[in-house]
Formats: sequence, structure tokens, C-alpha cells
Amino acid sequence: MTARILVVDDVPANVKLLEARLVAEYFDVLTAGDGHAALATCEKTPVDLVLLDIMMPGMDGFEVCERLKANSRTAHIPVVMITALDQPSDRVRGLKAGADDFLTKPVNDLQLMSRVKSLVRLKNVSDELRLRAQTAQTIGLQELPRVDRPDEPGSVLLVDGRASSQERLTRALKPIADVAVISDPQAALFEAAESSFDLIIVNANFDDYDPLRLCSQLRSLERTRFIPILLVTEQGNDERIVRALELGVTDYIMRPVDPNELVARSLTQIRRKHCNDRLRASVQQTIELAVTDDLTGLHNRRYLENHLKLLIDRATTRGRPLSICITDIDRFKRVNDTHGHDAGDDVLREFANRVRATVRGADLACRFGGEEFVVVMPDTPPEMAAIVAERLRLAVESRGFDIPQAATVLNVTASLGIATLRPHGDTAEALLKRADMALYQAKNGGRNRVVAAAA
Ligand code: GH3
Ligand code: MG
Ligand code: MG
Repeated sequence: MTARILVVDDVPANVKLLEARLVAEYFDVLTAGDGHAALATCEKTPVDLVLLDIMMPGMDGFEVCERLKANSRTAHIPVVMITALDQPSDRVRGLKAGADDFLTKPVNDLQLMSRVKSLVRLKNVSDELRLRAQTAQTIGLQELPRVDRPDEPGSVLLVDGRASSQERLTRALKPIADVAVISDPQAALFEAAESSFDLIIVNANFDDYDPLRLCSQLRSLERTRFIPILLVTEQGNDERIVRALELGVTDYIMRPVDPNELVARSLTQIRRKHCNDRLRASVQQTIELAVTDDLTGLHNRRYLENHLKLLIDRATTRGRPLSICITDIDRFKRVNDTHGHDAGDDVLREFANRVRATVRGADLACRFGGEEFVVVMPDTPPEMAAIVAERLRLAVESRGFDIPQAATVLNVTASLGIATLRPHGDTAEALLKRADMALYQAKNGGRNRVVAAAA
């Protein structure tokens, strides 16, 4: 993992020390001697992480952090504050300023590397999401979700083996989150997979259970791997903490737990989770838009061509039948010519509605192009496909199409070609081709009819 790290400290010797250790781990290091220089660097160069001294003449670390987090171009850069003394009040102030983490001087090597690596890893995930969401924005699909939304209440799962600490931690978290408490780690894993939590706090205080086992299980389950984990742990157990961070634990807090620090760290994780959820949802929406036909809301040709291959593979390996139907509206050009293009669009939308209403949920209906639609029917032998196609033909012919654009009702018919997958060596292209030939015969035979391709 390589990353560019900015070290900010007014004492040159401190800068040199951190720089040397980071360079030894192959990080790319930039330095700044005061807050203004730090802000300027973050503005003009992509930085992956800032190590920020608090006590600096002029602008102190809190202010630098606040300014970084208030600027939309730098808000996503993780900030680790370096405090001279282990002052809980400084930590809380820093977390409120938006800091992602803390290190105490003199900086312990293990903690430095584990914190830096875990934050860089988290940033890589967010960067990837931001990039994809940005692509969506660039092609004009939607707005990039905002990072600076007001806080929504979080939902937290507290896994804690002792009643007394359960009670204390729950009370501390009450103002910012709904807390569910579980004593049994295995039940907690189940609960985490069933519900949707924003944060899981694991208090490492079980009598005969290794809490890292739960953390690693949470990281390996599909349903829980994006949920941040905050580990509550003993002082002076660096090796365990490093192990935990390597396993994917997001953050840790030492006992005795300072309630303010707990709140601040939890809020940071909940915020990041909400932000990543929004980005992920927006990426998901982009994917949906990319495979959907705008006019009809059916899947588009790109999706069909990809998905048909998978359906064919599955049908072939399971020895199941699969049929497809291509349908094309008859004399559609006349609708456009007589009533205008918008009326034509109305016909297409209504046609799509009738296709949707006629096929089963397991069937895949797509707009293949212009006024041509394809329905893929898994588990469907040719006789059944012929029945479905005939039902579709009737659904179109039997009722006129309402055209609000032209204040009229039009009679529409369609021609249909069907084909069934051959058991050996058939392909999506060949199958579509056979259905298309059958459609051509239906057109030639006088339209408004179904023709099946020879098996
Ligand atoms: P046939 O019975 O042989 O299928 O005749 P047809 O007129 O339906 O076929 P042709 O392929 O000659 O014409 C299809 C027309 O569909 C031409 C094209 O302008 C129109 N078309 C394609 N896409 C759209 C669309 O999105 N909206 C509208 N309104 N018309 C479209
Ligand atoms: Mg046509
Ligand atoms: Mg056509």
C-alpha cells in the first residue's frame, strides 16, 4: 500500500523523525511547518492522510483540521492529530473539529503504522466510491451526494459481556444513537447480519471468548463487512490492537472509557458509514440507469446481451429449457408519420406496459431497440413459449392504445418470433438470430401473428 502523507509540525526535528519512519515504510511524504502551508499543500496536491500537530504558533491544529473539513475539496482527507500529552479533552476537541484519529507523543511505532495503514485503506474505499459516483454525475445522471448533511441518528450494536459496562456505555451513547445490547458474541453476529447497524462496538471483556474472532467473522460476512467496528480494549496491549486493525477493526478506544471520546469516535464512524452508504446507493442507482431503457423502464439491450449469456449457461448446466420471444410493432412508422413522434413514444410506453403485465416475474423483458422488444423465458419449453407469445399478441391487439398526445385511441398489432435453446453448443447470438428469422416470417406472412423457429 502506498500513499501520500503530509506531516505538519512547527518543530523541524519532529517532522524529520516522522518523515524518516514513514519513508522507511515506503510512504510518499510531504511536510509543512505551519497551518497555512498545510492547507495550501492539501489544496494543490492530492494528499491521502494528514498527520497534524496540535500545538503550533499562529493557526493551531484544531483550526487547520476544521478548515480542512469545511472545504469540500479536502473534507475527505483523513486527519490524525498528534497530541503532546494524553489529554482526553484535546482528543474530544479534535474529534469535534473532525479529526479521524489521535496519536500521542512520543509516537509509538506500531500505533503510527497501524493507524496510518487502516485510515489509508478506509480512504481508498471512499475514494473508489466517490469516483464512481462522480462518473454518474459527469454523465449528468444525478448529483453527487453531499458529505456535509446534518447528522441522522445512528444505530449501534453494543457487544459487551458485562452488565455494568453495558449500562455505562449505553448511557453515554444515548444522545447520538439507538443502542441494541447483546452479551453473547455469537448471537451478536447473527443480529448484526439480520439488522442494519451503522456501528458495532465490541467490548473486549469476555471471560472465555476471543473478541477478535467476532471481529473477523463480521468482516467476512457479506451482510456485515461494511459496518465499522469500534473495539474497546485494555491499555498497553499494542500487539493485540495491531492484530485487530489488520483484521479490519475500524477504530479502538482504551479503558477506562471516557464517555466524550466514545461519543466523538462513534459519531465519526456513524457519519462515515452514512456517507459511504449514500455513495454506494448512488453507484447502485447509476448501474440501474445504465442497464435501463429511459423511455419504457424495461431493461435495455446492453443488459439483455450480458444477462442472456448467464441465463443460457445456467439453463445448459442444469439441463433446463429456455425460450425467447422477439416482438416488433407492426407498421409503427405510420404512427410516427401520422400522429407525431411523441404519440409514437406513448405507444412504445404502453406496449412495454403490456409486455410487463403479460410475462412472469422470472422472465426478462427488454427493449431491444426502436419498436422491438425481447422476452427471455427461463424454464420454458417451446409449446409454453408459443402460448405466452400468443397471449402477448392478444394483449396488444385486443384493446386500443390511449394516446394522450394526439387525443386518440390507436389500434396496434405486433408480430412475434420465438426460438428455444438447443441443448448443445447453442449461443445467445444464434438463439436471437433464429428468433429474428421467425419474426421476419411473421412479418412476411401478413403480420399480427406468432411464428416459432424450427427446433
Ligand atoms: P414493420 O411492420 O415492418 O415492422 O414496419 P414498421 O414501420 O414498424 O418498421 P420500420 O422498421 O420501418 O419503422 C420503425 C420506426 O420506429 C422507425 C423509427 O423512426 C421508429 N422509432 C424507433 N425508435 C423510436 C422511438 O424511440 N420513438 C418513436 N416515436 N419512434 C421510434
Ligand atoms: Mg415494426
Ligand atoms: Mg423494426
